[in-house]
Amino acid sequence: MATFKYSNRVPADGTDAVGAILAAAADPSIISFAGGLPAPELFPVEAMKKAAEAAFDEHGQQVMQYGDARGVAAMRELVTKIVKEHENIDAKDENICMTSGSEQILELAAKALVNPGDTVLVEDPTYLCAVDAFKSYGANLVGVPTDEDGLIPAELEKTVQAHPEAKFLYVIPTFQNPTGRTMPAERRKQVAELASKYDFLVFEDNPYGDIRFEGEHVDAIKSYDKTDNVVYMGTFSKILSPGFRLGYFVADPGFVKKFTVLKQTADLGTDNLVQWCTVKFYEQNDVNEHVKQISDLYGQRKKLMEEGMKKYFPEGVTYTHPEGGMFLWVTVPGVEDTTELFETCLKQKVAFVPGEPFYAAKPEPGHLRLNYSNMKPDQIEEGLKRLGKALEEAIAA
Ligand code: PMP
Repeated sequence: MATFKYSNRVPADGTDAVGAILAAAADPSIISFAGGLPAPELFPVEAMKKAAEAAFDEHGQQVMQYGDARGVAAMRELVTKIVKEHENIDAKDENICMTSGSEQILELAAKALVNPGDTVLVEDPTYLCAVDAFKSYGANLVGVPTDEDGLIPAELEKTVQAHPEAKFLYVIPTFQNPTGRTMPAERRKQVAELASKYDFLVFEDNPYGDIRFEGEHVDAIKSYDKTDNVVYMGTFSKILSPGFRLGYFVADPGFVKKFTVLKQTADLGTDNLVQWCTVKFYEQNDVNEHVKQISDLYGQRKKLMEEGMKKYFPEGVTYTHPEGGMFLWVTVPGVEDTTELFETCLKQKVAFVPGEPFYAAKPEPGHLRLNYSNMKPDQIEEGLKRLGKALEEAIAA
């Protein structure tokens, strides 16, 4: 048997707690709120077939050839339009880089900026895979406190003063993963001003921003950035297809160049076919209408979640009320270990993701993340009934 002498970046056996949770939740007899998948019934399969046909008919050789590591020019042009229309971000072509999903930005940003032991600031709690990507390059994560309006600028300022060495801040201001919370405009402006004042970098991750089913749109932090301190990250995963693996960022041209060098060694460039399919899809379809259908469906599902939680959850259990996106965040008073609660829930044939792994350092007890985007109405009703029962047992214990 060969011996694989793994690098320090590879997690030790048995440390993939979330993988174990998702595997346990995959049992078909379990109703799982643990996933994070878009509703597949809204994937525009037929329309995308037509877009693919046009891509091959009109650009076949380019589709099949190596391309610019920064992406297809027509795709970058489309992104400059999207970020202006949706987020009021002024971008030129030199600011844009297409990527293999937005996940790749997290990985390559960490590779570009983090040496072992470097400090990275994150909202507490934050996106799990970002935590894993930053840690795999040896980052020392420092959490910035949040409240029901997301990241708290005054706390950020204190943290930045205490950690002037920090390489960057990572933040998800809209329909955050895991909490579903959204930062108001004033806070976004303050974050951009602090980034300029203290000259720190901000990675603003916005995979869910277009999926709003309630309330008013809030422009990106990047729209307030006058000094190129903010890197804005987007993706087509939640509005078109996560299987396409198509993301992008908008940043200072110098950073785009450095990043592109790393991107070349990672994959020589993002898949041309998905970029051309996306360009053609936008030409041939009313994408805003398509996104509205997604938002309407998720809005209906979130409403069912709120009705079910009200009906079945014991007194004292609280939850966020997201105005968009795919997740909500539940707080169970008196429960110290939600991983233990997870075991109780598995016996009731219902699953969620425990809150602990979403924290940078010391986890706050008693939180769990629930997904509703890929849950049918009968699963929501029955799943919350089971979860309510398990929560009652856990609180009583
Ligand atoms: N950032 C956040 C906050 C996410 O939730 C996700 C997907 N779960 C991603 C980035 C990565 O998405 P993708 O690579 O599909 O663009």
